[in-house]
Amino acid sequence: MSRPQPKGTVVIDTARCKGCELCIPACPPAVLRMSTRRNASGYLLPELLEGCTGCGACLLVCPDYCFEVYRLEGDKQAGAQPSPSAADGARSGRVADTRELPVAQEIQ
Ligand code: SF4
Ligand code: SF4
Repeated sequence: MSRPQPKGTVVIDTARCKGCELCIPACPPAVLRMSTRRNASGYLLPELLEGCTGCGACLLVCPDYCFEVYRLEGDKQAGAQPSPSAADGARSGRVADTRELPVAQEIQ
């Protein structure tokens, strides 16, 4: 029996993004893709699809520190606690309960 995939989400600081696309292939479940949206500097922006595991790979690869990563394992009603992601302790990675977050948030 396989373990259930951990769930997570990311917050992308789109104002910092330079559109380098390094985060796209770095995402193991391939839930990041480039969108057609641009920030004020004219750079194309990534967007998050369903299925983020909160692994933190995007946070580690992004040269412009655009990502905050949130991860939750278990069920809140069952008393689950937020758990560290791979990015915890590295760069500006942050861990939180994702229940209060939409699938993806962007900081303008
Ligand atoms: S945390 Fe992991 S799964 Fe989620 S978007 Fe970043 S690289 Fe992809
Ligand atoms: S790696 Fe960072 S700077 Fe490059 S496209 Fe992704 S979010 Fe933007």
